[in-house]
Amino acid sequence: MEKKIDKIKDSLIAAEHLFVGIFAFVAITAAILMLIYVPAVSKFVNVYAGDYVLSATEGNANMTEAYFKQNMMIMKTAASEFSEANLSDPDEVMRLCVRIADSSDFKHIGFTNTDGITISSFGGMLNTSDRIFVREGLAGEHSVYSRLTCDFDGQLMDAFSVPVINKRGEVVGVLTGHKHPLELSSLKLVDIAGRTDCNFILDDYGSVLYSSGPNEIGLREGGNIFDVISSESPYGKEINYILNSVHNIELKEYAIRGTEYFEAFVPLKGGDWTFVSIIPRAHVMGSFNLLIIFSVGAVGVMALLLIVCSMMLAMRMRRISEEISEAVDTSLRQMYVDPLTGHDTVRRFRENYAAAMKDTATGHALISLDVDRFKAVNDLLGFEGGNEIIRKLSDNIKRNIGGNDFFVRSVGDQFYIFANYSENDELVSLAERIISDAEYITDEIKLSMSIGIYKIDDPMIKSRVAADRADMARDSIKGRKESRYIFFDSSMLKKIRREKRIEDIMEDALALGEFIVYLQPKFGLGAENVVVGAEALVRWRHEGRLIPPGEFIPLFEKNGFVNKIDYYMFEEVCKLQKKYVTMGYDPKVISVNMSRTHIHHTGFVDELAAICEKYGIDTKYFEIEITESAAYEDMEILRDIFREIKSKGFHVSIDDFGTGYSSLNMLKDLPVDVLKIDRSFLTENADEHESASVIIGCVVSLAASLRIRTICEGIETKEQAVLLTKLGCNMAQGFFFARPMPVSDYEQLTYGIQG
Ligand code: C2E
Ligand code: MG
Ligand code: MG
Repeated sequence: MEKKIDKIKDSLIAAEHLFVGIFAFVAITAAILMLIYVPAVSKFVNVYAGDYVLSATEGNANMTEAYFKQNMMIMKTAASEFSEANLSDPDEVMRLCVRIADSSDFKHIGFTNTDGITISSFGGMLNTSDRIFVREGLAGEHSVYSRLTCDFDGQLMDAFSVPVINKRGEVVGVLTGHKHPLELSSLKLVDIAGRTDCNFILDDYGSVLYSSGPNEIGLREGGNIFDVISSESPYGKEINYILNSVHNIELKEYAIRGTEYFEAFVPLKGGDWTFVSIIPRAHVMGSFNLLIIFSVGAVGVMALLLIVCSMMLAMRMRRISEEISEAVDTSLRQMYVDPLTGHDTVRRFRENYAAAMKDTATGHALISLDVDRFKAVNDLLGFEGGNEIIRKLSDNIKRNIGGNDFFVRSVGDQFYIFANYSENDELVSLAERIISDAEYITDEIKLSMSIGIYKIDDPMIKSRVAADRADMARDSIKGRKESRYIFFDSSMLKKIRREKRIEDIMEDALALGEFIVYLQPKFGLGAENVVVGAEALVRWRHEGRLIPPGEFIPLFEKNGFVNKIDYYMFEEVCKLQKKYVTMGYDPKVISVNMSRTHIHHTGFVDELAAICEKYGIDTKYFEIEITESAAYEDMEILRDIFREIKSKGFHVSIDDFGTGYSSLNMLKDLPVDVLKIDRSFLTENADEHESASVIIGCVVSLAASLRIRTICEGIETKEQAVLLTKLGCNMAQGFFFARPMPVSDYEQLTYGIQG
């Protein structure tokens, strides 16, 4: 059992460890996840933010590109008109220039002939042959230049130049559209992370051709990116490379004056320019930080929840396992610790017994031990006082037994000791030590004990059987007034077997009428000794032998069969009394013994009365004898029963008075008719003779004062009869007068009926 419980405990601990392991695993996994997740998310967000900046820049670059392309397209269309015109006619050239300027949003349009002479819609004619766009146009190239100073009005302008080609494919001039310098802000560029001040168009030298407005890095139109980023730094070199590479879209992260920036470079296809967005990284990330915070927070909260849940579960698990452990411990305690004595329980004793029996190197004995008349101890000292005696007795036993011996209190005041021994003397001395220690347990009462010792002669014998044998030995000496020990011997076993045989046949015997009534007459003590009544005593006629009640009544009292015998005897006596009435006699009272076990059966008196009624016989012809030992134990119940018996008209007597614990005092509480003084008072011993007669005298006179009649049992001699007569005893019963006899003898003696 303990092994099983240990196993349960181990599994609990294992489950707990597993759970703590799972918890640790979850916590570590959550931590690792956080460690991986946070940088991963920030990296992802960073990449995403960069992509966002780049694609926004690309969009803005495309819009800018469209602006330039659109203007160039206008110029190309205009150029085709010029190619068909008479270009040698300055008026016509002027007219054309004015018309085109008016129909477009160019500020003015100029045509430059192959000699470099320009006619402008602005009015006037100038030699502009040194202008680069003129040169490039005459060379057949299209070009856009920004921030040139206009030759006509001296203001800054953007110039869009296209060659004018005649039908023969010869360049006959250059058409140039002049515009106010482009305001990037007018292009409705998309903002990047809410910013519009971050766009620039750079030429391949890094010069800022256009800027979308004042910005914190201080890069203005006319300035140069290398003013803010050193051209010598690795970044500067890289930017230089990007600006000069034709179609590379690039996103860079450079620090400018200690601040991180995203720099997105998108080349504009129309020229050597590059559209650039420069925007503080923190600003862009600011928009994403919320996303990072939210997603990291969500993961964090989930991980935290996971950890908290695991922790709570682990704690709960620990609580449950502690509770189970506690419950197991408590039930173990209940299973193995006697709450009264704090020593072992029967279960533990049996387990120890099985284990100890495996050791064959030494002899083993089972000792059964109980306190005589413990009920009296309890009555005298109270329930708690009785418990205290049991505790002290347990401690005494513990002190006296050997190291490998063990003991148990089974029920009440009954103990068993398992003792190892090599010599008989060791067992004798153990029993004697326990007996003598018991005497000193309390000053209030002298404790006597009965001890039965069974030397275990069969190693296979079960503890229960061994205990039965020790009990058998103990029971054989129980009831003596001083402590005793006795060894079990096989004759006791024979007794048990005989009892078993009796139990097997008792029912049949009753049915077959094997139990018969013997009557022992009672005599009046006085001038003449006449029969005043009789006591019915059972006999068992079995296989030609007459068995006396001493051989079966104690057994029947143990197994309850005595009740059936008593009713049977009562009924037989009823039949007799009825017969005597029918025959015209006035029947003398016959007393019937009723075992004390009846007093706990409700309806017992009614049953007797019903039997009388069945035979139509008056209850006054019967006396109910109840032994005295019962009187002490169940005073209250007994009083009620006695009253009931009397109320039905029966006589009632206390049998064997003087053998139990009843005091003379209690007599006044019991409605008793007759006191049957036990024969043990009639001692043979001359020394005690005197005191015995004093006691009998006292009992007789006290009973007389209470109007209780007395009868002395076991009168065997004339002297006893004389003495009792002298002491005032009313009646006598004994071999001196008459032995228990068959009914026919009684009838003849009492009524003169011839058999
Ligand atoms: P008891 O009720 O005290 O009966 C008296 C016993 O004393 C009888 O023993 C009787 O034979 C014996 N006796 C009478 N005079 C003398 C004498 O001068 N000297 C000696 N030595 N003995 C004498 P018995 O018949 O063997 O009965 C023994 C006990 O068995 C009875 O003691 C009674 O307690 C019990 N008993 C007998 N019959 C019944 C019964 O029908 N029902 C119950 N419950 N118990 C019965
Ligand atoms: Mg009797
Ligand atoms: Mg008696």
